[in-house]
Amino acid sequence: MERQQHRADVVIVGSGYGGSIAALRLAEAGVDAVLLERGRRWPVDDAGDTFATQAAPDGRAAWLSETSPLTDAKLDVHTGVLEFVEGSGMNVLAGTGVGGASLATNGTMCEPPAELFRRTLGDVLDHREMHERWYPEARELIGCAPIPDDVYHSEFYRSARSFADQLDKAGIPWDKVDLAVDWDVVREEMAGTRVRSQIDGLNVFGVNSGAQRSLDRTVLARAEASGHIDVRPLSVVTAVRPAEGGSGYHVDYESIDERGEVLLRHRITAGRLVLSAGTLGTNRLLLRARESGALPALHAALGTRVGNSEVITARTGMDENNARQGGPAAILARDWEDNPLGPVSLLNFPWPQAPEGEGWTTTIGAVPAPALGAFRHDPATDDVVLHWPADDPALERAQSAIGHTLDRLNEANPGSRTAFSRIGTTGGNVVGGVPLGTVTDDAGRVDGYRGLYVVDGSLLPGTGVPPALTVAAVAARVTSTLVRDVVRPR
Ligand SMILES: Cc1cc2nc3c(=O)[nH]c(=O)nc-3n(C[C@H](O)[C@H](O)[C@H](O)COP(=O)(O)OP(=O)(O)OC[C@H]3O[C@@H](n4cnc5c(N)ncnc54)[C@H](O)[C@@H]3O)c2cc1C
Repeated sequence: MERQQHRADVVIVGSGYGGSIAALRLAEAGVDAVLLERGRRWPVDDAGDTFATQAAPDGRAAWLSETSPLTDAKLDVHTGVLEFVEGSGMNVLAGTGVGGASLATNGTMCEPPAELFRRTLGDVLDHREMHERWYPEARELIGCAPIPDDVYHSEFYRSARSFADQLDKAGIPWDKVDLAVDWDVVREEMAGTRVRSQIDGLNVFGVNSGAQRSLDRTVLARAEASGHIDVRPLSVVTAVRPAEGGSGYHVDYESIDERGEVLLRHRITAGRLVLSAGTLGTNRLLLRARESGALPALHAALGTRVGNSEVITARTGMDENNARQGGPAAILARDWEDNPLGPVSLLNFPWPQAPEGEGWTTTIGAVPAPALGAFRHDPATDDVVLHWPADDPALERAQSAIGHTLDRLNEANPGSRTAFSRIGTTGGNVVGGVPLGTVTDDAGRVDGYRGLYVVDGSLLPGTGVPPALTVAAVAARVTSTLVRDVVRPR
């Protein structure tokens, strides 16, 4: 198949938090850019059936696969919202689609406390600058807010109130966490004028009511409205390499249909290339390019310092508390000061399949586990594999810290017990592989390759809390340099 040839000033690969923020800031500066996104668009409309649901999952739940770890159902092959990739010691769940993982997240937007931030990112980023400038900017861009009182006190959020009550009994401080949720739409779900989604805890494959403030409806929508950003969905980037003469980059991509069949092959040549394909996608493209000799001078640390601070826990034995309802997460437990084994965060989240009548509380926890993972290139498949030393004593210590918090909760809430607690064996929160300040400078410019930038979660070795807000804040920061470089070339 012959390749179609194109040119662009700037090409962005991927439309998650990094790619969307880069697109918006470039557009505001009047810069034209092409954004290549492998996934499809997910327009939410009044029919209320854009996404698959847990009750009746279909191919929309998974990226080009008949299976998903989130359902036992056999799926039709479709360009669905979540890619699942098996690794060694840890598997990865990666969002796909225009808007990236924001389509299907719990939407929790957490800023790590100063001490945690310094521990994970302090060697490259100044906490004060991030806290005073870039986190507020990220929150404003995403438009997040905690659960409002009327929604919190409704019948649908009994599980959130139950968790807060358990925390109070254990003396563990908590907050209502910022969420990328449109609460007016949740009110419409409650009133029966929109399809029930968040109030039934249905968000893992996307939110049919439109209550999710996903990037395609917020940051990226603003970028596209400017007329400067040409978003090309169903465009899978397969390879990147420097253009002849050292002026920019060739980006090879394939246009696919919604079953993954290749329709056309393209090569687009751009003066500047921004990789925002997410942790999995950016590591894939860069490690492949180093192995093939296309980008041989990439730093030896590429693929390293991969972190996942996610722990899934489930406790049972409480009074009936609507564990199946009331999403997304609303309550953030901050066991940051009193836990002798390390600062632990726990966020309740609904479990639509929870056994009825047994009073379950499911949480997603985070603890600052060291970034010991590494992506390595596998020549047999020309793909990357995540290697995670699950038995490392440092990870066991992190696991014990979570256990300490859960024990306190169980002691203070007689009858309750821990049914499950494990540092993510399947991580949606995996970050790292392109350490900021090592493989790139502190502004995401790839060392040794002028005009090549990374703007996404792969820059971070972990955050100790769910990462999306930090990914967005760092994206806002590094994008300010990108825009300066494009508008006023050095
Ligand atoms: C199910 C799930 C739930 C989560 N819940 C939360 C939460 O509640 N709170 C939180 O803080 N974090 C959460 N996270 C993590 C958070 O969503 C990510 O950290 C964040 O989205 C990372 O942003 P990003 O810009 O790095 O990339 P992503 O959002 O992953 O976007 C990358 C984009 O690049 C595209 N892409 C990849 N490869 C290619 C290619 N070769 N060609 C073209 N396009 C490509 C992908 O399709 C995707 O759209 C969750 C993640 C998942 C998967």
